[in-house]
Amino acid sequence: MTDRIVLDYLEKWKVPSETVQLATRPISHWINGAPLVSGGPITVFEPSTGAILTETYDGGADVVEQAIASSRKAFEGSWSALRPLDRQTLILKLADVLEAHQEELGLLESIDVGKPLSQAIGIDIGGAIDVLRYFGGWATKISGRTGDMAAYNSQFLGMTLRQPVGVVAAIAPWNFPLQTLIWKMGAAFAAGCTVVAKPSDATPLTTLRLAELITETGFPDGVFNVVNGKGSVTGAALVSHPGINKVSFTGSTATGIRVGEAALQNMARMTLELGGKSPALVFADSDIDTVVEGLFNGIYFNAGQVCDATSRAIVDAKIYDEVREKLIQRTRAIRVLPGLDPDSSMGPMVSQAHRDNVLGFVNQARADGLSFAVDQAQVHNEGYFVGPVIVENAPPPHPVWREEIFGPVLALNRASGPDDILRQARDTRYGLGAAIYSRDIGQVLGAARAINAGTIYVNGHGFLDPSFPFGGLGMSGFGKDMGAEQMDAYLETKTVLISGLQIDGA
Ligand code: NAD
Repeated sequence: MTDRIVLDYLEKWKVPSETVQLATRPISHWINGAPLVSGGPITVFEPSTGAILTETYDGGADVVEQAIASSRKAFEGSWSALRPLDRQTLILKLADVLEAHQEELGLLESIDVGKPLSQAIGIDIGGAIDVLRYFGGWATKISGRTGDMAAYNSQFLGMTLRQPVGVVAAIAPWNFPLQTLIWKMGAAFAAGCTVVAKPSDATPLTTLRLAELITETGFPDGVFNVVNGKGSVTGAALVSHPGINKVSFTGSTATGIRVGEAALQNMARMTLELGGKSPALVFADSDIDTVVEGLFNGIYFNAGQVCDATSRAIVDAKIYDEVREKLIQRTRAIRVLPGLDPDSSMGPMVSQAHRDNVLGFVNQARADGLSFAVDQAQVHNEGYFVGPVIVENAPPPHPVWREEIFGPVLALNRASGPDDILRQARDTRYGLGAAIYSRDIGQVLGAARAINAGTIYVNGHGFLDPSFPFGGLGMSGFGKDMGAEQMDAYLETKTVLISGLQIDGA
């Protein structure tokens, strides 16, 4: 079933035989603590070779039904019977188990998505472990409030109760499959919710392995179930099911709108983490080397397949030429190679369809006569590779400036001064991320207030932290992942109003 080309690739880079087995076995669903094979097969490709890796299954409504029934039972039974301290212990233990399997999980992620192995191990899996360790502590910090009522006397008392929302549908995209799920599960488990996860059908490997490790850690069966399949079939069945109390979705804005409409029919709570076209605002007083490093990471990390990639850089004309030159030099050093090759600094696009989509934007820019500072899009004949591209001074209506490309394609624009930088930065309906480069704190805070972005980096890019919220504004969605703020999304608030309090003799 697995193509010989893929087996040779895994052998060449000395992937341990147990991990080869995990990567090439058929990827089942995981229901109530056990694997389940059901539904039509879906081929999973390995993006560095473009050859067949394995297959998964389109679970459909039947598997969704089983998963939700199992999650409901666990929510009302074994999971809610646990003390918050026990939930905390399990979440922290899971972090330890993932750490013990960090290299294996990183290998699976690198093979499935194509990303450089060191990034998969350190950032994808390492970042997920940090998030679990942060949220483990929240399981024992949930509380409502008690207080006197404003319009009644002391014979009355008000209080709030915080209770888990219920069964959560957690839907992940393909760019950070395991980490995106953990961003949802950490808070969901801490709150006392159970989770039905649906990974992208392009990248299902680590989600099944995660389910096995969750069971090995000692979580009760049904707390975490996995349904695999196509978004339009299995995903749609999941988010429209009345047994789902909350949908936490990460993916494109177009899909997010459909998911939101379906979830609303059952008044399911929602977090929608969607796409972006984030700007980097580069003011004239910036440190040039810091800017170049930040722009480089902002567009090329994960081959640009990052929701808050700064895919539009707006640079003050006073430093434009110097920034441009240094960025071109830095870009030329990129090694576009298969994810398992230790020399790889940038892997392929996740799929053939996505590669074609990214190249479509580049070809259109070429056909429209736009100027290219870097044009290395075509790099290898095999696999789904796209090399780095920098398009200069794209006019505002052009798709390169306006649309999410989700690849290593930077729109680099010159600006006449601070007002022009802000004007160009605000020229988008998205509002996910932004980066501001300046040494003037007044300039930085003024720009941070003025731009529509949920997460704003200053003098760098990508240093997200589990203790601070991440989430979009505008067409980038709503709701937050991570930080104390995320707990609200997995808890309902009930108000209890008490009358007739009388203390004899008082
Ligand atoms: P996508 O929207 O195509 O798919 C995301 C997930 O939704 C997949 O699991 C897919 O199977 C599922 N899905 C598709 N149709 C569905 C439906 N009708 N009902 C329920 N589920 C459905 O996105 P993608 O191509 O996998 O990922 C790339 C996109 O994700 C980009 O737009 C990127 O910006 C976005 N993203 C956002 C964030 C964030 O935090 N804001 C993070 C990562 C990626």
